Amino acid sequence: MSNNSQIPNPAHIQADSMLARRFGKETVNYFSSSPLNRLSFLRSDHPFLSAAFKHPSTRFVILKDLAPLTRSPTELYYAKYDEVRKLLPASIYDKSEEEIIKEHDSRKTEPHLIFLGVDETDKQQDGFSWKIYSGTPYFALDVSEKGSEEQQHNAKEVVNGFEAQGLSFLQARVAMTFSANEAAIYAQARALIDWNTRNSYCGTCGSRTISVNSGTKRACPPTDAARVAEGKPAEKPACSTRTTISNLSFPRTDPTIIVAVISSDAKRILLGRSKRFPPNWYSTLAGFIEPAESVEDAVRREVWEEAGVTLSRVIIHSTQPWPYPANLMIGAIAQVSDPAHEKINLEHDPELEDARWFEIEEVEEALRVGTSNLDQAAGPGYKEGSLRLPPPTAIANQLIQAAINIDFLADKSKM
Ligand SMILES: [Zn+2]
Repeated sequence: MSNNSQIPNPAHIQADSMLARRFGKETVNYFSSSPLNRLSFLRSDHPFLSAAFKHPSTRFVILKDLAPLTRSPTELYYAKYDEVRKLLPASIYDKSEEEIIKEHDSRKTEPHLIFLGVDETDKQQDGFSWKIYSGTPYFALDVSEKGSEEQQHNAKEVVNGFEAQGLSFLQARVAMTFSANEAAIYAQARALIDWNTRNSYCGTCGSRTISVNSGTKRACPPTDAARVAEGKPAEKPACSTRTTISNLSFPRTDPTIIVAVISSDAKRILLGRSKRFPPNWYSTLAGFIEPAESVEDAVRREVWEEAGVTLSRVIIHSTQPWPYPANLMIGAIAQVSDPAHEKINLEHDPELEDARWFEIEEVEEALRVGTSNLDQAAGPGYKEGSLRLPPPTAIANQLIQAAINIDFLADKSKM
């Protein structure tokens, strides 16, 4: 994990192939291409989890109220088990999932703990190995002061220990300062801890749920020892989540579209801005995919609703996980076929403050000198009043670049 760049080093094999020749190199976006092998098929294997969890090389990504524990704004801090043992008994994976569900007691609470995966590039002497899998195991742990009094007390002690070392929790609306590898690890940790937090109670019967599958599923147990203490039978009232095939709650991923729109003459790009953007800052249009809607239909609907522009062909370019809280941005490039369809109308859905067609030359200049995160100033060479754009860590930037350098369509002559 020596890659400190913010542009992900693709985790996949980039060899010559028929598809690579036809469609060009794959665009790998920030927050994706994690260096970890998630080994999802081992998530309910408690002997594996127990061995991984206790191994001296194991690293814990720590979040408190979703803010990541860092050494500096550009570097995550990875804790060792000793630093979090107050919150996590070493016996945590000693029992099977079935036993844990059977012994459920809603008076006891546990912090969210997620098995993220194994970094197989990091093979040390005396490193962790399990069957044919080896490398450094990664977990994510929520140290928010939540749950029972005991849990809150322990969380506070663990946090005090970190703060005494000069570490701090990064307070940022969107954390875009980590290296690509760390961003991908943090994205997985954040999305799953957030999902667990929001699903602590069953959506059907309202009783407490418990984490299974090392933090990637939640179950509504059929019994609760707390009821026995109240003189009631341990069996809880019936809950349909336990009797039907969907007896568990799974993490969600909400698909959204984001699109760079090319004019009919391929000389201009459609960009929009919301009120919260700094002056002169524009981006690609985006929105949620609705139930029973294709990605392409969602692209055409959003662009018409927000800008009044009618699209023809839509192609999917690349995607970006966006853990705020659980989105997958599906990046598209689309074109208008008829100049009459280019007329901008902001009156259907007043979501955008402005939408405009920009000449390619102006966009190219902005890509050179006018990109930054929302909370940063533009780079050197930027002329006050000219166009500003999102940075290369945002898929919007990658889509704009691709729309301009349309070379990813291998056969340009047939356009
Ligand atoms: Zn339930």
